[in-house]
Amino acid sequence: MSSNSNLVPIWAEKVAEQLGPGPHVVVTGISPSGNIHVGNLREVLVAEAVVNALKARGEEVRFVFHADTIDPLRKIAPGIPTDFERYIGHSLSRVPDPEGCHGSYAEHFLGPFEEALARMGMDIEVLRSHELYEGGSYAEVTREALEHTAELRGILQEVSGREMPEHWSPYLPRATSGQLTGARILEHLREERKVVFVDEDGWEEVADYSKGEGKLGWRVELAARWKALRATFEPFGKDHTSRGGSTDTADRMAREVFRYPVPGRYEYEWIQIKGKGAMSSSKGIVLLPGEMLDIMPPDALRRMVLGRDPARALDLDLEAGFPRFMDEYRADTEEKPVPFTHLVTVAQTVAGDPEKAAEMLRRSGYEGAANDPEKLRQDLTYARNWAKKWAPESYRFGVRDEMPAEVASLDAEQRRYLAAVAGRLEDGMDGDAVQNLLYSTAVELGLKPKAAFGALYTVLLGRKSGPKAGPFVAGLDTNFVRERFFSV
Ligand SMILES: [Zn+2]
Repeated sequence: MSSNSNLVPIWAEKVAEQLGPGPHVVVTGISPSGNIHVGNLREVLVAEAVVNALKARGEEVRFVFHADTIDPLRKIAPGIPTDFERYIGHSLSRVPDPEGCHGSYAEHFLGPFEEALARMGMDIEVLRSHELYEGGSYAEVTREALEHTAELRGILQEVSGREMPEHWSPYLPRATSGQLTGARILEHLREERKVVFVDEDGWEEVADYSKGEGKLGWRVELAARWKALRATFEPFGKDHTSRGGSTDTADRMAREVFRYPVPGRYEYEWIQIKGKGAMSSSKGIVLLPGEMLDIMPPDALRRMVLGRDPARALDLDLEAGFPRFMDEYRADTEEKPVPFTHLVTVAQTVAGDPEKAAEMLRRSGYEGAANDPEKLRQDLTYARNWAKKWAPESYRFGVRDEMPAEVASLDAEQRRYLAAVAGRLEDGMDGDAVQNLLYSTAVELGLKPKAAFGALYTVLLGRKSGPKAGPFVAGLDTNFVRERFFSV
């Protein structure tokens, strides 16, 4: 069992309490028609929190991710070649992968998301809707839907206020062309579980609905899916739960046609990326779960994406605000956490040398962190990835291999200061000792701290500012620093 299982927020406990005794089936579903982003992940995490809350109450729970792989391609995601237009109306599971790396268009987008769920240690069953249809899981509810076509049509018209076409059908058979739309059903062969239909070119065809040769229209499918999977809970984004939206129609269809109780519900709000706006695959404003897992552990991601209350909108800040988030997270989960900005300094100073990194942490007073090499390696990877991709410029630096050209700007006093420091620097000094040395030497020479520290950053980094000087210099090789300071 993964470490998240004891992480049960209060809102999830309340949901679990209202759901009452099980067995429970918690369902979450996403169409892999484009990048599955962190906004989509919020839904899965809401579901996971409720699963954990139910388990904590001793309930039996099945946790299902319903990937809508049989859905027709509606429009081409950004970056996909325009000749994919010819696949519009075809099942995502039967459209080729635009980049050729997966078995289908659906898998191309589902694959990375599934990998992220695995990296998070999530205990979830991923079901592909085309396989459910092919395996007959939808056969019974499809039969019911076809038999109640008139009632379903009536509900759609009443709730949406729109007139449905005369030959509207709850079922979309797949024509020989691959098209799921545009057909007209002539007859339902109940015993054979087939429909006879006229395709878009006027030819008569037959589809077996127990073998995945078509699918239910998505509004009907939502209600039918609850029954087919015996769902007892499903979270929804605000777009679905608006008036006349898909949950309004599905609720009535479930009660009046499928005779199935409407599952418990939680409405979550959208996630925005700070400074960029609401996440949207079609607008190309996308943050993938994998990108977040590159800079933080899974449980930190859970905390960040859920926020205090998923019913509220959230601004994700992976830039300037990120170190503070990580410090708050670590303060709650670790004994003596190393400040994230210090990890960023260590990661950029002794990149790739675990022993030097441990030594640098020891000298800055983080003995515990230094003695856990596996965790340290992971933390430094997060810090380095963040510095590369998200950190504001002020956090980014690299120690120069050669004397930077910028030293030309240093005056005689600053040079004298560096030489004095070099003469006093000793092996094995810790961060505080170096900080004191740097400061007292400046005072002694009558140099303002800004000029003194500016000189130090200039010879090491080629710029006027940098990370906290004491722990930074203490972490470097003493001989290297001495030589550099002397040779200015
Ligand atoms: Zn691919």
